[in-house]
Amino acid sequence: MKIETIHCLSDNYSYLIFDEKANTVSIIDPSEFSSCDRIISKYKKLDYILNTHHHSDHVDGNLKLKEKYKAKIFGFKNDKNRIPGIDFLLKDGEVSKIGNLKFKVIHVPGHTSGHIAFYFEDEKVVFTGDTLFSLGCGRVFEGTNKEMYQSLIKLKNLPINTKVFCGHEYTKKNLDFCLKYDNSNSQLVEKAKFINSKLNNSLPTIPTTIEEELKTNIFLRCDNHELKKGLGYNQASDQEIFNKLRGLKDAF
Ligand code: ZN
Ligand code: FE
Repeated sequence: MKIETIHCLSDNYSYLIFDEKANTVSIIDPSEFSSCDRIISKYKKLDYILNTHHHSDHVDGNLKLKEKYKAKIFGFKNDKNRIPGIDFLLKDGEVSKIGNLKFKVIHVPGHTSGHIAFYFEDEKVVFTGDTLFSLGCGRVFEGTNKEMYQSLIKLKNLPINTKVFCGHEYTKKNLDFCLKYDNSNSQLVEKAKFINSKLNNSLPTIPTTIEEELKTNIFLRCDNHELKKGLGYNQASDQEIFNKLRGLKDAF
């Protein structure tokens, strides 16, 4: 599996997946036609489009790419009326394939009600859209904080060496938030060096890994006693900490 990261719009990432053995080309969340097509045209084909959710900055390339390459589109079944050009309706927990590459659908509601993650277990890769970001998580638009937190726990429980490819380059802003509210977390210092060196060289901070996120992503650390203490909520439940942090981040 070869993955190419494609910069789209101001801070979106689409990802091209090339399965060398099967000669299959797929794209995750084509934000816009032209940026994606520039990369796809190197391969002269596009077999599949995979959408994590229906927001326009993740599906706007769908119809033009489908028309040009006759690509087939995968999306969550409940979003069949919201994902342009959808062909294959996916269910939670379902295993499907692009070429020889198997992926599992993980329903992660919260940001939107029909948000899914694509988990390629054999390749140890997950595409998380706008649910899990490097050092952050998506805003809760359609679901509840409880749903979002449960969705993050599903992702948190993936093997720690899983690489995480998310939908936006929000890492720097997320880092600033983590540094402010999780300031006793010494692991953020190393992470900050990594992030700054990437960004100073105009490189993506993505992928991250589940292991990295467990250590540094404040939204995955709501069960951490030190964090609770630092926030002044020793007795709060993990969910209450999440709610508090999500609120603070919305206003950050
Ligand atoms: Zn979104
Ligand atoms: Fe987005």
